[in-house]
Amino acid sequence: MGKKMSEAAFLEAEKYIAGGVDSPVRAFKAVGGDPLFIQKGKGSKIYDIDGNEYIDYVGSWGPAILGHAPEKVIDAVRKVAERGLSFGAPTILETELARRIIKAIPSIERLRFVSSGTEAAMSALRLARGFTKREDIVKFTGCYHGHVDSLLVEAGSGAATFGNPTSSGIPKDFARHTIVLPYNDIDACQNLFKELGETIACVIVEPIAGNMGTILPNENFLSALREITLKYGSLLIFDEVLTGFRITYGGYQNLMGIRPDITCLGKVIGGGMPVALYGGRKEVMSLVSPQGDVYQAGTLSGNPLAMISGIETLDILRRENPYLSLHQTTEKLALGLEEEGKRSNLPVKASFIGSMFTLFFCDKMPGNFDMVNRCDTSLFSMYFKGMLKNGVYLPPSQFETNFLSCAHTEDDIRKTIDISKEVFKDIKR
Ligand SMILES: *Cc1c(COP(=O)(O)O)cnc(C)c1O
Repeated sequence: MGKKMSEAAFLEAEKYIAGGVDSPVRAFKAVGGDPLFIQKGKGSKIYDIDGNEYIDYVGSWGPAILGHAPEKVIDAVRKVAERGLSFGAPTILETELARRIIKAIPSIERLRFVSSGTEAAMSALRLARGFTKREDIVKFTGCYHGHVDSLLVEAGSGAATFGNPTSSGIPKDFARHTIVLPYNDIDACQNLFKELGETIACVIVEPIAGNMGTILPNENFLSALREITLKYGSLLIFDEVLTGFRITYGGYQNLMGIRPDITCLGKVIGGGMPVALYGGRKEVMSLVSPQGDVYQAGTLSGNPLAMISGIETLDILRRENPYLSLHQTTEKLALGLEEEGKRSNLPVKASFIGSMFTLFFCDKMPGNFDMVNRCDTSLFSMYFKGMLKNGVYLPPSQFETNFLSCAHTEDDIRKTIDISKEVFKDIKR
């Protein structure tokens, strides 16, 4: 497969765009090589500008749950575009999407749309601090909540990939109020609260960690967080930017039966357009400006194109309820890959839930970031490159989640497993 056009495009992009990409995870730094430039996508496939076809497991890093360019969504967006792109005044579309979300997630009584998950997490923290009049926050190692200054401490995703958990450019004073605990370690959390509970504004957590690879919460982890935060008057924030409407119609919290005080959503709820939100109890959300004194704003928040894309996407998901079938397809793929890897004597562990999975090159199934860091990233790089060469586009890092969509077919799954079988044979430990 040729890569000439992509190579030339990257050289050209580097002349104008910092590092040639608008988000670091798009570069292939962690695995070596240059990124592909994408021409178009349809269903489970993407096509680069050299005309190569790939089965895509990045799914725009989460949003593309219906597959690429779903006709109904594209048509609806086109229609709304003809009426104008943005007004900076309310439209009915915002209420339409908000109503759907509030109906689907009981803990959200009021919400505010923003344009990125980063903004949602940042605003949720400000609100939690405003509500509790406390300053300290708790996050977990390997969880990523966007590139908010005070949350870029031992974060996952791109930050993990580059072994550079704390970004430069963040004053020590900002990070001073961020307390970092290991994911899945409820004792550590209990001990911390015994000592400092009265100063902690909130605990923010990915209820399924997706930004250090897919890591499931231990059985009582999330309910214990709920109990501890209630006991000490801290707020619990579920960052469901990744998991919202991906595991079930609603949040992962629906399945767990847990009501966080604030929830962040993004990715799937915009169906590929820039939509995110934070929302929660009426009492908490009433502090947001203009009702309250916690300021937060956005020129393009609730943008009509983004709203209609979200509305159409959610309506399709509600109607078709693809979640069980997605989980079954994902299970088949993840276990199939694991089996082929083991046959080639590779240390592989498949972690999966819903339509998310990671194949860890690790002797033991990781349950937190320390364990993920013991995975063999050079084996992963060989695997990634072999799959790419044979038409399978995986996230270019061991510390990321693969996403399936409703458009992935049995044939895609079988092909992916068949290709992996050959790729694994060529990997030398
Ligand atoms: C992607 C992600 C974010 C950041 O969202 P952006 O839209 O990229 O700013 C925040 N939290 C989680 C859990 C995410 O997966």
